[in-house]
Amino acid sequence: MDNMKVLIADQINEKGIDELKDVAEVVNNTSITKEELVTVIKDFDAIIVRSRTKVTREVIEAAEKLKIIARAGVGVDNVDVEAATEHGIMVVNAPESTSITVAEHTMGIILSLARKISIADKSVKESKWEKKKFMGLELNGKTLGVIGMGRIGSQVVTRSKAFGMDALVYDPYITEEAAAELGVTVVDLETLLKNSDVMTVHVPLTPETKHLIAKPQFDIMKENAFIVNCARGGIIKEEDLYEALSTGKIGGAGLDVYEEEPPKNNPLFGLDNVVLTPHIAASTAEAQRDAAIIVANEIKKVFKG
Ligand code: NAD
Repeated sequence: MDNMKVLIADQINEKGIDELKDVAEVVNNTSITKEELVTVIKDFDAIIVRSRTKVTREVIEAAEKLKIIARAGVGVDNVDVEAATEHGIMVVNAPESTSITVAEHTMGIILSLARKISIADKSVKESKWEKKKFMGLELNGKTLGVIGMGRIGSQVVTRSKAFGMDALVYDPYITEEAAAELGVTVVDLETLLKNSDVMTVHVPLTPETKHLIAKPQFDIMKENAFIVNCARGGIIKEEDLYEALSTGKIGGAGLDVYEEEPPKNNPLFGLDNVVLTPHIAASTAEAQRDAAIIVANEIKKVFKG
């Protein structure tokens, strides 16, 4: 493990850096430019990035002893994984670091929809007192439909139980044991859509899940249903969502992710029954700390061989 060098190219939580200090020389250069990176990468055994730094083919080809590229977060969109694989360089991330944080944000959006919190907040700040306008929905005894029950979906189910909700799950890849352990009922998508009061999407965006929720799905939902997407833009077809919301087909929607980010002139902006956040579901200090610690430990494992 002698003389290992780690480049921290984007700002990460101190706890992650502390983990590495006893096993490597840590160089913190979080304002490094693209050009500088290509020049200095040859000296490093590991690099940690978040989203600012792009680890391109050019960077990877300039590396001479790089063993591991670590993304202190969920996706690895900013890393050329193909080039890394060709050069025998491991790419790691920390998808589990944000699960609880995203699940909490999802619950926040559900509560905001059910109790009209964001629109009521706006009204009070406009010096209005519109108590009758903001009649809410109690979550207790309602059915939550979870589409995709992986890391985040499972955490949402656990939290929804504290609110007295029953869960229906649609996930063709879930095992019977996992379903039994969480006490959920696994159903097909149609059954979930027809019977849920609140639906939340936690699948990855793939050709299979693109526009998984569009007009035919909105058409069979309960009249006052809510739907939330804190997964990826494009899983819900926004054009059809707008129609379902503006015609009163469904009750409300909450989005943290959009087909185009940042969304521009999006007609959803004009609706009162939507709660929108700017792709912040994973943004907490705790999730960032955990991501940094997880990738630091991955680097340590690689250095130890
Ligand atoms: P995961 O891989 O643990 O779970 C995904 C689940 O979806 C799996 O159980 C899988 O079986 C299921 N699935 C896959 N294809 C499906 C399909 N066609 N129909 C139904 N189920 C299907 O992922 P995760 O960590 O729980 O993350 C879920 C989503 O949340 C991902 O899209 C991820 O990118 C997104 N995410 C968003 C944010 C944010 O900032 N908003 C942060 C983290 C993760």
